[in-house]
Amino acid sequence: MADSAADDATSCSTAAGQSIPAAGELWDQFGRRITYLRLSLTEHCNFRCQYCSPASGTPFFDYADHLRAEEIELVLRSFHALGLQHLRFTGGEPLIHPQLLRYVQFARELQIGKLSLSTNGYLLDRLAEPLAAAGLNSINISLDTLDAETFARVTRGGRLQRVLQGIDCARAAGIPRIKLNVVLLRRVNAHSLPELVEYALARHLDIRFIETMPLGSAGIASQDTEFFSAQAARASIEAKVGKLIPVASSRDQGPARLYTLAGAGSRIGFITPLSNNFCASCNRVRLTATGRLVYCLGQEAGLELRPLLRGGASVEELSAAITAGVWRDKPERHLFTVDRGRSSKIFMMRLGG
Ligand code: SAM
Ligand code: SF4
Repeated sequence: MADSAADDATSCSTAAGQSIPAAGELWDQFGRRITYLRLSLTEHCNFRCQYCSPASGTPFFDYADHLRAEEIELVLRSFHALGLQHLRFTGGEPLIHPQLLRYVQFARELQIGKLSLSTNGYLLDRLAEPLAAAGLNSINISLDTLDAETFARVTRGGRLQRVLQGIDCARAAGIPRIKLNVVLLRRVNAHSLPELVEYALARHLDIRFIETMPLGSAGIASQDTEFFSAQAARASIEAKVGKLIPVASSRDQGPARLYTLAGAGSRIGFITPLSNNFCASCNRVRLTATGRLVYCLGQEAGLELRPLLRGGASVEELSAAITAGVWRDKPERHLFTVDRGRSSKIFMMRLGG
């Protein structure tokens, strides 16, 4: 069934006449090697954050459409064959997925170098230890505010105390790297960013501030009222906690610009999808829980892998389809801009962040 994809793999060429890269590596047409997969396990979530989810929760949730365990494992084998170096589990909320530990163990057995996970932290009290034992290297925990009422409002019902307890459990379990992710929201947390930095510093955790992207309910209308730039965030933090010192770039920093404070071990990062485009160094693709390979957060292009998986594709056929798709369709950059907008109707909880 994937003969045509395999054919594509040998026939695609760039405007410059280069042919598609050799098997074993995944490249796009813009000279970027893709080594990072963000794998969404579910579109469902136990929170409904205003910038990520519809107020009613996900209407898309249907188990029959979600990839099954053996399909996910085939996808992982295929990406592994294409030189995957970093796998992140995301969602929706990955901790509510009953097979999460199985997948972490499977990825560990495949010897994928870095295994990370993004979570709202709510279920870490019971899952931090098993995740550490399964070989998770790194965890990002979303935390937009330290005020319980504001937290409940932004997450539409989440309990802050339980998330803070989850963060403590992740530390106690010894997960090697723990990062806090804060989405910058003018009316929600712009005034309280230094508190979040101090919370992270006191626990030797890294923290990253992310400009809100115009997806789903965080579309252009709310963008006008909520957008708060990373530059403004940095100024507000420096005014309270002191000068931020740039950290020399490291291979695993991704799109974040990293800083530290004199005498502190924590790194403070800013992710600027809108105010400062970082697509030139993009090394990632995403897979939705229903099996759509998404090449870019801010563009529609994608490839449905589920029909291939359910049609009995082998690792080689799937790898060939992925190779051809990424080469042909991964766009050079997203199209979000601060002033002109361009929002997407797709909710972030489908895309996995
Ligand atoms: N449920 C997990 C969590 O909250 O971390 C994983 C999925 S969530 C979609 C992944 C990341 O995307 C989170 O850090 C979240 O804050 C971020 N996110 C969601 N919607 C966003 C938006 N509109 N703009 C920027 N970041 C967003
Ligand atoms: Fe759920 Fe995470 Fe989206 Fe919040 S940001 S609704 S916790 S998926």
